[in-house]
Amino acid sequence: MRIAILRIGSVNMDVLESIQKSLCDIFPEVSCAILKSTMPIPEKAYNPSRHQYHSSDILSKIRDYVEKSGADRILGVTEVDLYVPRLNFVFGEAECPGKTAIISLFRLKPEFYGEPTDWNLFAERSTKEAIHEIGHTLGLEHCRNSTCIMFFSNNIQMTDAKILKFCEKCWPKVLRWISLFAE
Ligand SMILES: [Zn+2]
Ligand SMILES: [Zn+2]
Repeated sequence: MRIAILRIGSVNMDVLESIQKSLCDIFPEVSCAILKSTMPIPEKAYNPSRHQYHSSDILSKIRDYVEKSGADRILGVTEVDLYVPRLNFVFGEAECPGKTAIISLFRLKPEFYGEPTDWNLFAERSTKEAIHEIGHTLGLEHCRNSTCIMFFSNNIQMTDAKILKFCEKCWPKVLRWISLFAE
């Protein structure tokens, strides 16, 4: 399975490389590349009254890159704040199953919560969200196990409480999907 990481707007390169490495570590037999091209932030997705971008609008634009990149999955990464209607914000969104996913780094930085900068914590949170969204593209739904990477988190404490792993119920589903790409 080939995963491509797509920058949406300007994004810190170190965190992209950290996500790239972690995706290769957790998913067996995947290759993961950071695309050279950057997708401009679609200004139509901006909601001026919320000061946020509509996640699903950006996700639909990511689809344009699937064919060009030749990847099986595209993970868009952006620094802008994302929302979907009825939720205050989202850390990310994905087609389930599908080829595209997006995560926002905006609320993963400790500084957002008035805490001191912590690169390792920021990188770990980014990795967790990336793996979670790629999990959705493999058809995995949310898991009831609060430490599983597929648990739904709507605040940073819930993200921090998850471990960087699929639980024993989710992992076989991941393997089944990945095996389809090996054929
Ligand atoms: Zn989710
Ligand atoms: Zn699980």
